[in-house]
Amino acid sequence: MRKYDQTYISGAFRSTVGREEMPLFDPTTEEQSGILVLANAEDARLAVESASRALPGWSASSRTERIDLLNSMADAVEARADELTEATIVEYGGPIAQARWRAGLAATNFRIAANLLKDFPFIRRTNGAEVLAQAAGVALHIVPWNSVYNSISVKMAGALAAGCPVVVKPSEFSPWQVDLFAQCLHAAGVPAGVVNIVVGLGSEVGTALTASPDVRKISFTGSTAVGKTILQGSAKWMQRVTLELGGKAPTIVMDDADLAEAARQALAIGFANNGQACIAGTRILVRRDHLDEFCRAIPDAARTVVQGDPRDPRTTLGPLVNRRQFERVLRYISLGIVEGARPVIGGEGRPPEFDRGYFARPTVFADVTNDMTIAREEVFGPVLCIIAYDDDEDAIRIANDTPYGLHAYILGNDIARARAIAGRLDAGRVAINGMAHEPMAPFGGFKQSGIGREYGIYGIEDHLEFKAVTGGTV
Ligand code: NAD
Repeated sequence: MRKYDQTYISGAFRSTVGREEMPLFDPTTEEQSGILVLANAEDARLAVESASRALPGWSASSRTERIDLLNSMADAVEARADELTEATIVEYGGPIAQARWRAGLAATNFRIAANLLKDFPFIRRTNGAEVLAQAAGVALHIVPWNSVYNSISVKMAGALAAGCPVVVKPSEFSPWQVDLFAQCLHAAGVPAGVVNIVVGLGSEVGTALTASPDVRKISFTGSTAVGKTILQGSAKWMQRVTLELGGKAPTIVMDDADLAEAARQALAIGFANNGQACIAGTRILVRRDHLDEFCRAIPDAARTVVQGDPRDPRTTLGPLVNRRQFERVLRYISLGIVEGARPVIGGEGRPPEFDRGYFARPTVFADVTNDMTIAREEVFGPVLCIIAYDDDEDAIRIANDTPYGLHAYILGNDIARARAIAGRLDAGRVAINGMAHEPMAPFGGFKQSGIGREYGIYGIEDHLEFKAVTGGTV
């Protein structure tokens, strides 16, 4: 059984100061897969101290040094893509094809930052002022369990390009993925202290890190509830805060869409990453007079959803990450039924073909109104709602009637009309006819889905302070 008992601080793997242990379980088998020795507040202090020591050197590093490091990091994660993929499967239950794609995103994020750095304007001129872009300082990156390599790399790429050393606090549910990733970064030759990683509970290590006055920038990906706590805490030292939080994305099926194809796409968008995706399209909006035909198309479309062992290449839907998440999703399915929603597919309990594993039945509810709990709260599992609209105006109103605003989807044939609808949705990203990911474009949420933007040039600027110098002759 694997034991994870190390931090990565000052360029070295060292035993955690914390001694408390936490068992880890493979979500597909429910068998214990490892033990995590939790880092504690002292580990957090050492990590920040290490990053602070590295700040003067790294913030003064040359453009070439940063580009070379980012490219080496991309090479190093590409070289171990198979192991990174395996860890995602065991630890998280990610289906193999998706897990491999997600591991690849990390290399992409590092390479994009390296390319953008080539002519990134650290010095700009605005009328009478010279504008200097300066590293914000030590950056703290807190990330969840559902997309480990991508969340870590997209933040790290922006920070390192900007000249900020980082402390990463990954989720306690992903120590194997994190350990492998840290080994890749170490092999890539990250200078001591430029990257530091501590794995522990949010309530201990997370709070110790966010409370440190030496942390100047916090970039957090996770739930809206924890994001709000971090934002409140940041007021004390006025740390710069970026929040990438939850979502309840609408998928608008336009009235000219091919309904059978739209049903297939809506399920793919809703069940992505085992339904554990902040960007999942979980509210499917269908014109009222198309509802019956759309609901009839769902069971057919569901034949493309293959639930099972994430190692099997045919699998598209794996288990939920842990028992707590499994029980939470089952509770939401029961609540949907109590609220009067009707399962078109799925329903309560574990699917009959599984006698173990944190598998919930992929469930699509009809007869949902946008005020039901299952339409308002983020379930974070394979549970989708079909909601009726009357016309485009009504669809836009319902789509925007949510506390969230991370992503939205539109399925239909009239692209000009789809673009017009996109322009009126309160969401950081809108995808028309698919789920295309553009890693150079800004990513982030409106409303309670967050504050700030990451990816591409936005992720670099997110780690900079801008200083205007006037007077004197240049
Ligand atoms: P979470 O908020 O429970 O935890 C996220 C991270 O924060 C973990 O590392 C956790 O240990 C840490 N944490 C918890 N409490 C903390 C505290 N008080 N102080 C500091 N750190 C603390 O979220 P989760 O369950 O790990 O992930 C699922 C959530 O993440 C969902 O809401 C999902 O929508 C969101 N998410 C958002 C995005 C995005 O880009 N917007 C991407 C992926 C996931």
